[in-house]
Amino acid sequence: MPTRDYPLEKVRNFGIIAHIDAGKTTTSERVLYYTGSQHKIGEVHEGETTTDWMEQERERGITITAAAITCFWSKTQETDKKDASKKYRFNIIDTPGHIDFTVEVKRSMRVLDGAVVVFDGVAGVEPQSETNWRYADEANVPRVCFINKMDRMGASFEKSYQSILDRLTKKAIRLQLPIGAEENFKGVIDLLDQKAYKFEGNMGDEVIPYDIPEDMKAEVAKYRAELIEKIVEQDEVMMNEYLEGKEPSYEDLKKMLRKGVIANEIFPVCVGSALKNKGVQLVLDAVVDYLPSPLDMPPVKGINPVTGEEVVRHASDEEPFAALAFKLQADKFVGKLAFFRVYSGTVEAGSYIYNSTTGQKERIGRIVRLQADKREEVKKVYAGEIAAAVGLKEVRTSHTLCDEANPIILEQIKFPEPVISLRIEPKTKADQEKMGIALKELSDEDPTLKITSDNETNETLISGMGELHLEIIVDRMKREFNVDANVGAPQVAYRETIMGEAEVENKYIKQTGGKGQYGHVKIKIKPLEPIVEGAKVSKNVSRYDHFEFINSIKGGVIPQEFIPAVEKGVKEAMERGIVAGFKMVDVSCELTYGSYHDVDSSEIAYKIAASMAFQEAARAARPVILEPIMKVEVVTPSEYLGDVTGSLSGKRGSIEGTEDRGMNSAIRARVPLKEMFGYTTDLRSMTKGRAGFTMEFDHYEVVPKNVADAIVASRK
Ligand code: GDP
Repeated sequence: MPTRDYPLEKVRNFGIIAHIDAGKTTTSERVLYYTGSQHKIGEVHEGETTTDWMEQERERGITITAAAITCFWSKTQETDKKDASKKYRFNIIDTPGHIDFTVEVKRSMRVLDGAVVVFDGVAGVEPQSETNWRYADEANVPRVCFINKMDRMGASFEKSYQSILDRLTKKAIRLQLPIGAEENFKGVIDLLDQKAYKFEGNMGDEVIPYDIPEDMKAEVAKYRAELIEKIVEQDEVMMNEYLEGKEPSYEDLKKMLRKGVIANEIFPVCVGSALKNKGVQLVLDAVVDYLPSPLDMPPVKGINPVTGEEVVRHASDEEPFAALAFKLQADKFVGKLAFFRVYSGTVEAGSYIYNSTTGQKERIGRIVRLQADKREEVKKVYAGEIAAAVGLKEVRTSHTLCDEANPIILEQIKFPEPVISLRIEPKTKADQEKMGIALKELSDEDPTLKITSDNETNETLISGMGELHLEIIVDRMKREFNVDANVGAPQVAYRETIMGEAEVENKYIKQTGGKGQYGHVKIKIKPLEPIVEGAKVSKNVSRYDHFEFINSIKGGVIPQEFIPAVEKGVKEAMERGIVAGFKMVDVSCELTYGSYHDVDSSEIAYKIAASMAFQEAARAARPVILEPIMKVEVVTPSEYLGDVTGSLSGKRGSIEGTEDRGMNSAIRARVPLKEMFGYTTDLRSMTKGRAGFTMEFDHYEVVPKNVADAIVASRK
């Protein structure tokens, strides 16, 4: 029986998520500081400034952007901070802030059990907060809200809280109140324990409880009643007792609040200022008190790749090993790290693991856990835990690692398709080689980065989620891999698909002395229905992203050995498209008939025959071009509302709504990506630089005829 190094109920796997600039970095830095300073209390010298400390943190080589960082926290009320049995282990999973990386947020939602959502106390809910909130909803992630920046000019707890209620959820409830605001922001009141807190010392290390100020007692009573009502709603017995005038005990209220948060029925709202060192410790207490441990989570589901049956795994060390690799990251000291979360069972350093996604076996050399100031070597990782393996060569993001005797494929993390591309051309021959290596490494790390090469022009195309995403890739190529390259202008990543069905028969025959060529196929194509991923399919059907191949050949009219060549021919033709040379997607292709020749038939002949048949069929099946449509939000001073709305409509955009935000208006629209190129400049001149916008991919849509014609013409 394995013995755990840490009780599972004392583990919290959580993320800190926020709209860019809301204060995620600052909050994370404070979290590492407070958890770290607890670790070596007394070593924080008087007079050591924040920046000194952060500088050191950076020099130690682990930034807060590590995919997962482990730290330890004992609650503020604990008097003995060194008592290990009182400590909780936090695995903080990184979630990037920028729109281009929302997929990363989505990915991390899969492996975290809870989240702290940080809001800017001036802006309240922002577009990215909405997107992240929706992702968290989809993944049923319990959340604690933190309204940050209470010290800023214009900060309002009530307004921000209201924006959460209006735009995110009615299930949010005040757990704390701020004492003062803006430059008079002094501290925080906890409505449950009815204490005021101030944060003293150099970094706000000393959390000092005191009595609620007289002038806030009425307010506290009112909001406390609201909070308690929300809590007792979770439980009928408690509710009835409460209605009869009996207030539940503090412990019972906390327990029930925890239950409500874990069930996604309550989202408690905390408040503070990370920058001014106020409130962060109480948020960490809330993580302990209200966010789930892995034991509180429902079991994960997967598919047994051998039988195709659904398998369920619990967060138990006794069950067979199953883990999900959720992020690859280069580490300058130990090389490539594969971060994984263990869902069931345990894994030991030095043992062999089975990658059920690829069918390969690999040896896990070392396992590490990243802490703020060191990499801790780990011998064994238990169910519910997060760690990183060093040196796994074939493992990629989203692969399942498991016990070969008890195979399981966990639900894959779905990544959206790239919508924007850049042509890059190495400057010298030497750069060419380095570029190949760099792009391979970068795309191994980042599943939303796609690399394609154009065989005709010898150019390389990198595709990703947005301009910033690709800019960062090009920059990393330069800085980390020393590659010098010429970079083209960003282009929309169009796609093609078919709207109708067609059946085509084609023979490829060459008989000019010696051995000839003979390939004969008949294929039927139609639009592909959405696929249930991982579902068991018959042995005659191959399914991929956006493509399905069905082999319906009867009586061996085409010998089995040539079938893969047919499939390959179709796939290659799809890569080249038919309308304007863009990759074709969402096609179902059925091989229905054909014939063969004893001597002349070859793989190449079938490949060519199939490729030609596909092109002809695609031409007949109403082929169209697809373009990415973006979700856009512009926030502008209201006086420009008309101009901005007009500009978006003029871009083939559909306006979905506008709303007042104080002096500003927010306009939500869906606009084709193509039309949004250069919008930053347009918007700036239209509004004297006073408006801003965010945008993210929404879906692909068929382009109108005139636009399609223009695209085709430009490709000639
Ligand atoms: P991120 O983009 O969400 O990671 O945000 P950062 O933590 O980088 O913060 C963005 C900006 O807001 C920085 O200039 C921070 O110094 C500032 N900031 C963060 N937290 C606070 C806060 O509590 N109060 C104030 N006034 N500024 C803050």
